[in-house]
Amino acid sequence: MSTARIRPSLSALPAYAPGRTVPGAIKLASNELSYPVLPTVADAVSEVLGHGLTGLNRYPDNNGTALVEVLAQYLGRPAENIVAGCGSVALCQQLVQVAADAGDEVVFGWRSFEAYPIVSRIAGATPVPVPVTADHRLDLDAMAAAVTERTRLVYVCTPNNPTGTVVHRDELERFLDAVPDDVLVVVDEAYREFDTDPDTPDGVEISARRSNVLALRTMSKAYGLAGLRVGYAVGDAQLIGALRQVAIPFALNTLAQRAAIAALGAEDELRPRWAEVVSERTRVTGALRGHGYEIPESQANFVWLPLRERAADFSRHCEDHKVIVRVFPDASGGVRVTIGSPDENDAFLAAATSYQV
Ligand code: PMP
Repeated sequence: MSTARIRPSLSALPAYAPGRTVPGAIKLASNELSYPVLPTVADAVSEVLGHGLTGLNRYPDNNGTALVEVLAQYLGRPAENIVAGCGSVALCQQLVQVAADAGDEVVFGWRSFEAYPIVSRIAGATPVPVPVTADHRLDLDAMAAAVTERTRLVYVCTPNNPTGTVVHRDELERFLDAVPDDVLVVVDEAYREFDTDPDTPDGVEISARRSNVLALRTMSKAYGLAGLRVGYAVGDAQLIGALRQVAIPFALNTLAQRAAIAALGAEDELRPRWAEVVSERTRVTGALRGHGYEIPESQANFVWLPLRERAADFSRHCEDHKVIVRVFPDASGGVRVTIGSPDENDAFLAAATSYQV
């Protein structure tokens, strides 16, 4: 037991529980892309490794300048409106540090991405979770009503992790009209490449019109780079500058920067993978509903089974069938299952359809 003092408030902090990897089992627990790394991305990484003394012995470009330039081209936004970070979860933490002082409030739907309350508490801010609707959608009216004069930051996750549901363009605009413009609203679009809903908003486009809105995106899901850690935020240049100020220096490493540039340039090779995930999502959803499961309409690369108190039992059943899913074993809980390759999905469906709903 250390004699050093640790902040007492940390004892109330829920630990981030990553999806488990179990040898010999299929992992459908972390919303990763179940495809091998593209050859162009592997080549970009090998090139850095092959550079010897001019490669990894040097610190990375602290601002990821080349990557940000490529993103600027890709998004049609100036480089000063873009910051890249060590995964979008690092940017979630930077966002709280930028927006909230101790005791300020951070509003988000619940359930939503489990890092939101954690990064809020680490910064000494107060998380304000707002329950989703009965059909598992973010309740934007209730979230607007939850905003007080202490609210400094709101996370709108669409498609929402873990429920997969989306908010529509018109309801998001109404919400943004209702929220005071000194509150930072982050549209977390981690799963946007899998979203085929025609009414889905574009956070980057909104952030160009509304200076209190920031879009948050990641290379971990659709681009298949979860292990390299690259995310980015797009919005007002002053906000982007503040996010740079609070970043851990050099957190975005050289290999990650080069791989992200290569992956952005290989989107034509990635699109068929995204299309397969979307069609598999339709197949898995149909099969589960056919077996009696309640499955909300997902626009992400996962489906949500709101099994509540049976969630842990279902997860154990899947593990017995060598499939690892993500369980949220509490009152608002359920099981989130990533859409993997067709074979992986078949293995999951075999487990799910041998369970008594
Ligand atoms: N936002 C959402 C909604 C997520 O689900 C995740 C990952 N689970 C992240 C952000 C963070 O992703 P990363 O740090 O890998 O970019």
